[in-house]
Amino acid sequence: MDRFEGEPSKRWSLFGLNEEGDETWLIRGIARKLYHCPGCHGEIPVGEDHTIVQFVRRLGGTDHHHWHRRCAEEILIPELGRLKKIPAAESSQSRLEARGRRPAGRRDRRR
Ligand SMILES: [Zn+2]
Repeated sequence: MDRFEGEPSKRWSLFGLNEEGDETWLIRGIARKLYHCPGCHGEIPVGEDHTIVQFVRRLGGTDHHHWHRRCAEEILIPELGRLKKIPAAESSQSRLEARGRRPAGRRDRRR
């Protein structure tokens, strides 16, 4: 597998599959309230540039979490397979939630 270099940005999001086969989308975000990072349990203050991790589950359904950029890079990204860059415009939350309304086998296969 090619190792992806970099982090989500305004232009690019990242896509990969976790061990359960769930789609894992990493999207750059600015914190609008105080979040707690699942990676280190530390705080992400309002206004901080961070990584939104949106899962689109293999069997359907979505959920998302807010991570420090560095924690996502060090903990989460190394566990993902088939990592690739996706234009950020194609990873909007509404689009991913729509994607989660179907199980993996019945989604658009263009990617
Ligand atoms: Zn963290």
